[in-house]
Amino acid sequence: MRVYNTLNARKEELVPIEEGKVKMYVCGPTVYNLIHIGNARPMIVFDTFRRYLEYKGYEVTYVSNFTDVDDKIINKALEEGVDSSVISERYIEECKKDMEGMNVRPATFAPKATEEIGGMIEMIQTLIDKGYAYESNGTVYFRTRKFKDYGKLSKKNLDDMQSGHREIKVTGEDDKEDSFDFVLWKPKKEGEPSWSSPWSDGRPGWHIECSVMSKKYLGNTIDIHAGGEDLIFPHHENEIAQSEAANGCIFSNYWMHNAFLNINGSKMSKSLGNFFTVRDIAERYDLQVLRFFMLSAHYRSPLNFSDELMEAAKAGLERILNAKKKLDYAEQNAEGRSFFFDDGEDQDFGAEYVAKFEAAMDDDCNTADAIAAVFEFVRAINTAITDTSSTALAELAEERLVKMCDVLGIILDKEEEALDAEVERLIEERQAARKAKDFATADKIRDKITAMGIILEDTREGVKWHRK
Ligand code: AMP
Ligand code: ZN
Repeated sequence: MRVYNTLNARKEELVPIEEGKVKMYVCGPTVYNLIHIGNARPMIVFDTFRRYLEYKGYEVTYVSNFTDVDDKIINKALEEGVDSSVISERYIEECKKDMEGMNVRPATFAPKATEEIGGMIEMIQTLIDKGYAYESNGTVYFRTRKFKDYGKLSKKNLDDMQSGHREIKVTGEDDKEDSFDFVLWKPKKEGEPSWSSPWSDGRPGWHIECSVMSKKYLGNTIDIHAGGEDLIFPHHENEIAQSEAANGCIFSNYWMHNAFLNINGSKMSKSLGNFFTVRDIAERYDLQVLRFFMLSAHYRSPLNFSDELMEAAKAGLERILNAKKKLDYAEQNAEGRSFFFDDGEDQDFGAEYVAKFEAAMDDDCNTADAIAAVFEFVRAINTAITDTSSTALAELAEERLVKMCDVLGIILDKEEEALDAEVERLIEERQAARKAKDFATADKIRDKITAMGIILEDTREGVKWHRK
């Protein structure tokens, strides 16, 4: 399998440190608001990559953090007059709901920065001891120029940058030795959350959080570090400097970055105000459609959000769901069908599309081409499966279709699941109406259920139901 490694600016064969195992870290969201669909892009694409690694037999340890201490969280807490943990906990829960809706699997470990402060203090102390960091009036800075490889990921050269920007000191950071030095620890301001440290009561800088959480859950050197391309500089560059200076070894062998989700040609972001939250989209579409839309482009290509593309994704997804229904029907209505393969049926039906799908995914997780292979398979199913096809053929096709969709994180039985939940809810409502002796309402609900193609039976053990 080949992946594009930002560090070496080329596609490379993925060779994990430990055979058969992949250790992967994906920078997670800052939790001060509902996530927008730009934030959802790395979640969906790297979840799909993880699923494919597992499909290939790798054991994947997937770590993705929540940044739960940050200026934006603190500001929102001040606005609402609550503790900043109230804000971060609220939006972690909301984020998890969105992830579930998009079928993004929970990470193996999802650490919160505020629960890892001890490790951060330890790494900062190591950096000071090694001469890579210094304290000044309670603030600790990283001594950027001392780390000789600085710029290797973003291909930036400090001297070139210097000539472009004579003065890039930020106000309040006047004690820096050099304008490129960045904050590892900063003293608290009034009303901010803080932790005690050898330097001041304060809080960590953003970059040190990921270096520490990656080390704790995955070790000093990991296989893959990933995130959106806006993180390459300075966030990931700074993570490399901190981790490699402190640990004395390579931080991550591969760096993967997704391109932006744009809207009208510019990056969707909270600060520009041109965003849709995942929740906004959930009001109009099943979130599977959003997931399918995201995967319709290669993760390193910019993707423009539009109603037309969402409608196209919806229609494409429906074609796949219909093929699955056709296969289910062929399996359930066995009458007139042979249980075993008939003469003339392809006993390896679908193999060529599975091969195409894998070739696309092996080539830097090309989900766009992988989806094209699924569509080709759907066309072949629509032609090959007829009223007389054997159930063996239908089952083989279904197994292969489901396997590919599992990698993409598309649930083919979702509609049925949702329908079942709706029926259960209506049955409960009808029972409540009967209990209240409101028989008119109870009958109305029964009619509604019948119209859905469901037969109800009132038995001694309660209400039972089945499809017509
Ligand atoms: P943040 O909460 O801003 O730290 O972002 C969380 C993740 O979402 C990071 O990996 C960002 O790179 C990514 N991200 C933010 N906006 C977009 C966007 N418009 N398109 C793609 N990825 C994005
Ligand atoms: Zn990070």
